[in-house]
Amino acid sequence: MARYTGPTCRQCRRERVKLFLKGTKCDTLKCPMERKPYPPGAHGRERLRQGSEYLIQLREKQKARRIYGMLERAFSNLYKLAERQPGVTGENLLRMLELRLDNVVFRARWGTSRSQARQLVSHGHILVNGKRVTIPSYRLRLDDEVTLKETSKDIEYFKHNVDTIDRALPEWLGEQGSSWEVKVLTLPTREQIDVDVHEQLIVELYSK
Ligand code: SF4
Repeated sequence: MARYTGPTCRQCRRERVKLFLKGTKCDTLKCPMERKPYPPGAHGRERLRQGSEYLIQLREKQKARRIYGMLERAFSNLYKLAERQPGVTGENLLRMLELRLDNVVFRARWGTSRSQARQLVSHGHILVNGKRVTIPSYRLRLDDEVTLKETSKDIEYFKHNVDTIDRALPEWLGEQGSSWEVKVLTLPTREQIDVDVHEQLIVELYSK
C-alpha cells in the first residue's frame, strides 16, 4: 500500500493553500503556512506568479489528490472510474473520494487528519457492517455502517478526539446511537462535500 512519505507541510506550501493535513497543528501558529505562505525551495517566492491554464488545472488536481492523501496512479484510476459512471464526472470523482473508508473515519472525528484515519484503518480498529476492514481506500456504499472495534472504544485517544475535535458530521453521514457508529445515509452530493476544490478544472486536465 503505497503512500506519500515526504514532508507533509511542504504539500500545502506547494499548493499555496492550507490543506489541513496535520490535524490540530493546522489551527495553530506552528503551521508553516502562517509564516511562509509561498512555495518551498530557494526560488519559492519567484514562483508566485499566475501560471498557464494547464498549470492551474494541474495544481487543482494536485490539491485534491493531496487532500485525500492519494498517489498519482490511484487518483487517475479513480478518475477513470468516475468518468465511466453516469452523471457529472467531477461530482462522481468527489463522491468516490468522500466515500473512502479513511475519509469517513476522519469525518467521524475518530482521527484528527486523514493520514491518521488511514493508519487507524490499516491497524484494524475499524469495522464495516461488523467486519474488520484494513484497506483505507475501501469504498463505502449506501447504508454501510462503520464502527469502531469494541476493544478500541476504551482507548483514551479516541475519546479525546471525539470530545475535542470541533468538526460537524456531514449531512450524508449519521451517528447511530453513539459516536462510535456512523452510517452512510445518502450518497454525498456536491453541496454536501465541503472541500475547496474546483473539480471542473480536474476534468479539463484529464480531458486533454
Ligand atoms: Fe498544511 Fe497543516 Fe502543515 Fe499548516 S500545519 S502547512 S495546514 S499540513
